[in-house]
Amino acid sequence: MRLLTAAAAPDEHRWQDLGGCTDSDPEAFFPKSGADPDNAVRKICAACPVRETCLVDAIGRGEEFGVWGGLTHAERLVEARRRRIRAPRTAQEAL
Ligand code: SF4
Repeated sequence: MRLLTAAAAPDEHRWQDLGGCTDSDPEAFFPKSGADPDNAVRKICAACPVRETCLVDAIGRGEEFGVWGGLTHAERLVEARRRRIRAPRTAQEAL
């Protein structure tokens, strides 16, 4: 699976070339709305060397479709919220 947005420069998404899904069926990563992805998809993402980059990129883009970073859209919304909650409130707190 390798998807580029029309606005993205090719170099911005070079990490996708390292994804564990590069030789996988893209449709497996885009289950029907509300359906859970196959365990095989979850396993590929769990072992992917660019999982975190993929997840952060999808959250940052507000990607609504497909499995990115091993998570569905609904799961990414929860993860995005969790990360904001855990983020330090002040620079002092971050130290
Ligand atoms: S985390 Fe999953 S969807 Fe993202 S690049 Fe890796 S295998 Fe592909």
